[in-house]
Order: sequence, then C-alpha cells, then structure tokens
Amino acid sequence: MDIYQLVRKNIQQLSPYSCARDEFKGEASIYLDANESPYNAPYNRYPDPLQVEVKKEIAKLKKIDPKQIFLGNGSDEPIDLIYRVFCEPRQDSVLAISPTYGMYKVCADINNIAYYTVSLNDHFDITADTILAATTTETKVIWLCSPNNPTGNSLNSSEIELLLQRFKGIVVVDEAYIDFSSQPSFVQKLHRYPQLVVLQTFSKAWGSAAVRLGMAFASETIVQLLNRIKYPYNVNLLTQNYILKRIKQADTIQQQIKQTLTERRILIEKLATLSVVQHIYPTDANFVLVKVEDANGLYQSLVDKGTIVRNRNSVQLCQGCLRITVGTSQENETLIQQIIELTQ
Ligand SMILES: *Cc1c(COP(=O)(O)O)cnc(C)c1O
Repeated sequence: MDIYQLVRKNIQQLSPYSCARDEFKGEASIYLDANESPYNAPYNRYPDPLQVEVKKEIAKLKKIDPKQIFLGNGSDEPIDLIYRVFCEPRQDSVLAISPTYGMYKVCADINNIAYYTVSLNDHFDITADTILAATTTETKVIWLCSPNNPTGNSLNSSEIELLLQRFKGIVVVDEAYIDFSSQPSFVQKLHRYPQLVVLQTFSKAWGSAAVRLGMAFASETIVQLLNRIKYPYNVNLLTQNYILKRIKQADTIQQQIKQTLTERRILIEKLATLSVVQHIYPTDANFVLVKVEDANGLYQSLVDKGTIVRNRNSVQLCQGCLRITVGTSQENETLIQQIIELTQ
C-alpha cells in the first residue's frame, strides 16, 4: 500500500522549516547558531526537535524501532497532525465509532473535515463489515479507540485486524488505556500494516497528564510525514527530561497499575450492591461506565458534595450513565458512601 498516495498534495510538496538544531546535529563547544541567550543553561537552549534520547528509552520499553515513534504535546497533537497530513479540507472525510473520545471530532471540525460515525453494537463493539460499509472513496482515516472511552471495553481485535486488511486508508487505534487492559497492544502488528497508527500517552497509567507527552507508533513513512509538519520544538526540555526520569520508575508504575486494577475490582463490587445502580459495563480501563436511576440528578448531588464524576447521560448509547475514574481506595470508598447517603 502506497501511503504517499493518501497524503494531501500540499503536504507532499511542502519544504519543512529547517531549524538550527536540524542543520547542525553533532556536539560542539560553542553554539552561536540559534540566537539563544548564553545564560541560564540548560534552559537557554532549544530542545532536541526529534527527542532522540526519549525515543531511545521508549523504543526499549515498547520493543520497537525508534524510527517508528512520533512524540507530541499529548496524543492530541498527533490526532490533529493526522488530519493535516491526510485529509483535504472540505473534500476528504473520516469515520469513527460512536460513542468515543471527543477530540477526533473536534479536530475534524477545526480542520473542516467531514466526520462520520458508526454506532457501536449492543456490546459496545464493532464488526469490520459495518465499518467498511460506512466508508466511501473520500474516507481517509478510521478512528478506533481500544479500550474505548467512555465505554471502557476493548474492541474485538480480530475485527480490527480484518479492517486493517481490507481498508485502503489510515487506521488509527487509540490505546490511551492499554496499560490497564488484558489485551495485547496493536504495536505488535505494526510490521504487517503500513497504514496503522497506534496512539498511546503518558497521561493515564504513567500519571503524567500535566507533562503532556503523547506517542504515535507507525510505519517509518507515517512518522516522517508527522515530523514534516509538526512545530519544530513541539516537546519542551522539561517534558523530555521528566519523562526520561519517569521511565526509570517503570517498576513503580507497574505496581500502581496493579493497585488501580485491584481498586477497580473493589469499586465495581461495591457499586453492584447499590440500588441506584442499574448496570455496570465491563471495563478494560481505569474507569467504569455505570448506568444509574437518575444520572443528571446523581451527578449534580455528587458535585454538591465535592465529588466530580463524568456525566455521560447525553452521549449516544450512554443514556443514564456516569463515567467514574478509579481513584485511591479512600476516594472510591468516599464516593460509595456519598452515593449511599444520597440515595437511601
Ligand atoms: C485521555 C485520552 C487521551 C490522552 O490525551 P493526551 O493528549 O495524551 O493527554 C487520548 N485518547 C483517549 C481516548 C483518551 O481518553
């Protein structure tokens, strides 16, 4: 499959900005090339535009070639860049599942790209057939999210793979919650599918949402295209240094993930005993979608007690649902007690 054929004409023809750090890449003792201040080291210097050190560590962690890694200011950055590489405004379109993460649509709207959806089935899942049936010759990108936000479940991986075999465009699998999942990552399938993009992030299991680092794993061709159009210094030095330190704490993070999974189990058990709870959907993530008697009312009463959950009542297929993030044992217990006080 020729990825270049999918690329917008103006991006194919683009000569990217060549920054000082691109033109000289070695080590030197005097840098007078970038109009930086000579004071306030190390913050006076522009950061590595391609984040070589960070990618080296992520490559080890994910068992992948560093050339297949793109890093952005959160995963929201590659989401936007994928539109800008592949989708011609007012001409091309994308297809996403519904319900799912809101940023795919927001970025489509900003870029003036038609955004179509296929409703998930009763199990919040997909089939390759229904997705393919909704594609047209203008469909450039299919957005999948697994485990999916806000439903929490993983999508059927064989159906995703069928889609990868049959759809001749870009397929994105957003794995923001993969560290909490029992399913294997699609990163392992990258060598088979040049049009696959897998998104992951340091914002969830890695406990670093404030730091803003998102990852896109893809074929070298796609990574090069994303690099071509990104802002030169899109990941700042503080973020790069912080993440290098954080990766060294991988064992602690594994412990925290385990703890969250234990707390998730306990939270679900306790929610199941509450009379207001009508259904708890299966989850592979660090949150749980719960159907309750009066979602708007319960949401507001919890706000009044100082506890904020996500009200998903107005979202397709999620009528009556609250999305509850798994917190500490204490936080979860307080939530349960508050719901009991409000509803008994
Ligand atoms: C939280 C989340 C992200 C993370 O976005 P960042 O910009 O990396 O913080 C991405 N995708 C989904 C589905 C999410 O829920």
